[in-house]
Amino acid sequence: MKYCSRCVYPAASAMPLSFNEDGVCTGCQVADQRRLIDWDSRLAQFHRVVDEYRCGNDYDILIPVSGGKDSYYQVHLATKVLNLKPLLVTYHANNFVPEGEYNLQRMREVFDCDHLILRPGEGMLKKMNRLGFRLQGDMNWHSHCGIFTVPIQVAVRYNVPLILWGEHGFMDLAGMYSYDDFVEFTAKFRLEHAMRGYDWDDLTDEGLTRLGRPELAEGLEEKDLKWAQYPSDDELDAVGVRGIYTSNFVPWDSNRHVELVMKEYGWRPSVEPFERTYRRFSSLDDRHDVGVHDYLKFVKFGYGRASDHSCHDIREGQLSRSEGIEHVRRLDHVKPVKDLARWLEYAEFDAEEFDHTCDSFRDPRVWNIKGGKWVKANIWGTESDYGDVCLSAAETAAFIERRDQLKEGGDGQRNDLKRKRNERAPEAIAAL
Ligand SMILES: [Zn+2]
Repeated sequence: MKYCSRCVYPAASAMPLSFNEDGVCTGCQVADQRRLIDWDSRLAQFHRVVDEYRCGNDYDILIPVSGGKDSYYQVHLATKVLNLKPLLVTYHANNFVPEGEYNLQRMREVFDCDHLILRPGEGMLKKMNRLGFRLQGDMNWHSHCGIFTVPIQVAVRYNVPLILWGEHGFMDLAGMYSYDDFVEFTAKFRLEHAMRGYDWDDLTDEGLTRLGRPELAEGLEEKDLKWAQYPSDDELDAVGVRGIYTSNFVPWDSNRHVELVMKEYGWRPSVEPFERTYRRFSSLDDRHDVGVHDYLKFVKFGYGRASDHSCHDIREGQLSRSEGIEHVRRLDHVKPVKDLARWLEYAEFDAEEFDHTCDSFRDPRVWNIKGGKWVKANIWGTESDYGDVCLSAAETAAFIERRDQLKEGGDGQRNDLKRKRNERAPEAIAAL
């Protein structure tokens, strides 16, 4: 497995990622751009963009918020720096940690803003947890869908055209776009990247039959998933909905946001440490995001949130690469005992079925089977085993066959595909 020579990302990343001739990943290359940008002129540009949307007696902009440090920073920027009247909107997926819930509820108090919170029914959310996990190995799929649907629905209903997002995650971590692209939110990004090509109508009983997976049916119908339905093109055009990313206009650094929002607004990080990362100030809106949900990233791709956080901190100069590798060694593989127990109870899911389903999502580019154990190469140069294989003999044989086919085709097969998907970022960088 190839790794970035500067951060700790592997070539088999969950996001589109490629490398230059020095072995530096696109995420690190785009992070380098930040140091060359004239941020004063970007802020002036930010003012010009939002000025077009100021309106006397209505909301000027809509801000999707989770109550996290970045949400606080965005609302701080909108109200104190840009002097806007925002409407805050939250998709609430039921699994906030206590400090996250405290931070969320305080937003209307400390910023004196109107705040709409949509909380889908709990029984339906549990069904979505099970469905997302069985179908895609992702119990949080409903969150990706809700976060990128509910604010757009509200923008249409309340006639607020401009939506202010935080950073573009795939750009920030993997360099999917350049800072010169001024990328904006698209329905294509929502469906093809954030939601991996699945939409709400794939998760109804009818949709699952269409997908050839009727055995996964949870009894969901169209009326259960109103919160997940993206507005039509006509509705979007009638309002002129547009989503811009704050990180294109101000130097975005979540470590600095934490300092500012704790000092100015009494924002609270998690008291209890997470099992799979060293940070305590991320993902407070979903306790499973850096727990069992992130464990599935390790199962699929062989890395996890400790890698994501290390890459970010290495690029910000707050961590050396070898310190990052130590975080990876200590945390990326951890099976979160407490978090998994909580999720199994919450989603009413069987532990054995959990392990078996996990193993059905292992990526043969990353994993091998030796002596009944899952084995993979590590960034520090050795190979380790990471637990028992929970597949049947036939499933094990099928995995080995897929792995052998991939080897015969050469790693180039998948890499070529990835390069095609990711062709925009290197071009944009070359144009600098
Ligand atoms: Zn890198």
